[in-house]
This record gives sequence, C-alpha cells and structure tokens, in this order.
Amino acid sequence: MTSATQTIELKDWRLSPEQIPPTVEPQFDADERDTLRERIKQQLKAQDAVMVAHYYTDPDLQQLADETGGHVSDSLDMARFGHDASEQTLVVCGVRFMGETAKILNPEKRVLMPDLEANCSLDIGCPPDEFAAFCDAHPDRTVVVYANTSAAVKARADWMVTSGSAIDVVRHLQARGEKIIWAPDKYLGEYVQKETGADMLLWQGSCVVHEEFKGIELADLKRQHPEARVLVHPESPASVVEQADVVGSTSALIKAVHEIDAPEFIVATDRGIFHRMQQAAPGKRLIEAPTAGKSATCKSCAHCPWMAMNSLDKLAHVLETGAGEIYVTPDIIERARRPIERLLEFTAARNQQVLGNNDA
Ligand code: SF4
Repeated sequence: MTSATQTIELKDWRLSPEQIPPTVEPQFDADERDTLRERIKQQLKAQDAVMVAHYYTDPDLQQLADETGGHVSDSLDMARFGHDASEQTLVVCGVRFMGETAKILNPEKRVLMPDLEANCSLDIGCPPDEFAAFCDAHPDRTVVVYANTSAAVKARADWMVTSGSAIDVVRHLQARGEKIIWAPDKYLGEYVQKETGADMLLWQGSCVVHEEFKGIELADLKRQHPEARVLVHPESPASVVEQADVVGSTSALIKAVHEIDAPEFIVATDRGIFHRMQQAAPGKRLIEAPTAGKSATCKSCAHCPWMAMNSLDKLAHVLETGAGEIYVTPDIIERARRPIERLLEFTAARNQQVLGNNDA
C-alpha cells in the first residue's frame, strides 16, 4: 500500500459548518397553502406529470403526492414508481441524487425537482474525481456505493446498494471472496462490516442529520421512557445503533412502528418520517432521538436542510416554468445504470422485495 493511497483512505469527508445550509422549513398560511395546492394540481394535469416524494420531505408535499396519484417512499422505490408511471414528467421531491436516479432509470422522461440545490452531505462528500482516484488505487476491490451518491460516482461503481439491501449484497460478494470498497457513508459501512465481517475499505463520508444523534443522551432518554422502543437508521453512529430495538431503512422503521406493540418510539432518523409513521400507527407517541439540542452543536436538529428546500411554492414554480430539470449525460446514464440494475437483478433473484425496503 502506497503512502498516496493511505492519504486518500484517511481523508475525513465530513462537511464543514459553512457547507451546511440552515434548515428553513416552508411556512404558509392556510390561504397560501390552498392556492399553491390548486396551482400544482392544475399543472400536474396539464403537463402529464406525477409527483414522487421522499419520506423526509414536507408533509404538505407528501399529502399532495398521495392525493394526486403520486407516490411517497424511499429513493429507489420513487425511481421505480416513476418508471412504471404512464406520465411523461416526474416531479421528484427529495434531494438531487434521487432526481438523478429517476433520470437514469427513466431517461426518456422529463424529471423536475423543486430545488436543484437540494443536495446531500453524502453526495457532496464523495466527489467523483477523488472517488475514482481512490478506486484506481485499489483495483483489486469491488466498488459498492450507497444510493446516496451522484450519477457520476455510480458510474464508477460495480454495485449500488440501499440500506435495506447492503448486508445481503456484501455477504454475497464476501462469499465470492471479493474485497470491497464501500462509499460514502462510514457509519453504514461500519454497521455492514460488523454484521458481515467482510473486508471493506470505507470512504469516510457521513450524513449530517444522522451523525448528530447522541449515544449518551439517548441512554438518558431511554431511562425517562422505559416503555419506548428505539428505532435507528444505520447512518447513525455506532453508539446510537447499539441501543436500537430495530435498525433499518426508512421503510423498515415505518413498518416497525406499525407492527410493534409499544406505546412510544424513540426515532433516530429525519423527523420528516413522522408524518408517515403517524399515518401508519395513529395514537402511538413518536419522540425524536436527541441531537444534543438546538442550543448545542446540532446543525440539522433531526431534519435534513436539503430535504427542507422542497416546498409547495418551488414546486408550483418549476411546474409553471419548466425550471429545475435534471440532466444526466447519456454516457453517465449508460454506466450508472449497470450498478443499479445489478442490485435489482440480485434482489429479484432472491425473491426479495426491494420496493419499500431501501433508503436514501
Ligand atoms: S438526511 Fe442525510 S443522507 Fe438523507 S439526504 Fe439529508 S444529508 Fe443526505
């Protein structure tokens, strides 16, 4: 192993505070909301468009997607829904890699997003050129990337995985004797490595939302709520994951709230998911896992600043103007499709349900 390789391996891709925008949640009064909803509904019909929204987006958007025949889910399921939909325009409410994945799987369709600045710290923290250099330095390893990456990074990968499929794919590769490069989320990578024992070289990226959940404060909160079950997304640090009753993707956590017989749940993922959880299990109490509090170090405070960029007014604007279209070059589409389709074929062969079983 060369010293140049070590330098690449050891780099911490955590974003600086200046790279993280403030979380600004959309605020509309009832009249504004009604007007915007009507404008959007008219445009969806007029433009042969359908909404697909992520669980972390504003509840108004999730509700509108439900009401207009759209879909609310996780990123891969959003893309697959878009593929099956008859509409020619997909309006993706989420973050940029979700729009790109929708475009990769549906290149013949127009893909719009309310705000093209809506990114993801995992995507930002895995620049394609640096990542390619990292892969080039380890040619003996199979490249496995998480869904939360740019189209260009996916184009350099052998496999794309989701949080719901990562362990199975890595076990499969391990059984074939393959060594792995994993990117970009180090916490999810550590979790998968611990579960599988696979030989994984981990890119050092992180999610600004999940990284802020705190193990010591979570233990305190559990003592205050002894009946609560703890649900944790595996992008969280190990000190949080190890206290979980359920570790899983967004869809798995929603399912857990519905199925587990408990009155309270402490939830360590973006609180945008509470809207769907409340629908799935009305009457159950949902408590945010601690992020050290707004007066302390938390920057996102359990809500993704980029997901919060999606709003009714921006959605109306892009539908009315055609702004916010996602473009991916044909060359990248062709190469990025391969790792995604490999995952789809792998899960289909195992008769697994990919839909609703992954995350971003
Ligand atoms: S919650 Fe984290 S992983 Fe999800 S989009 Fe935001 S920064 Fe990315």
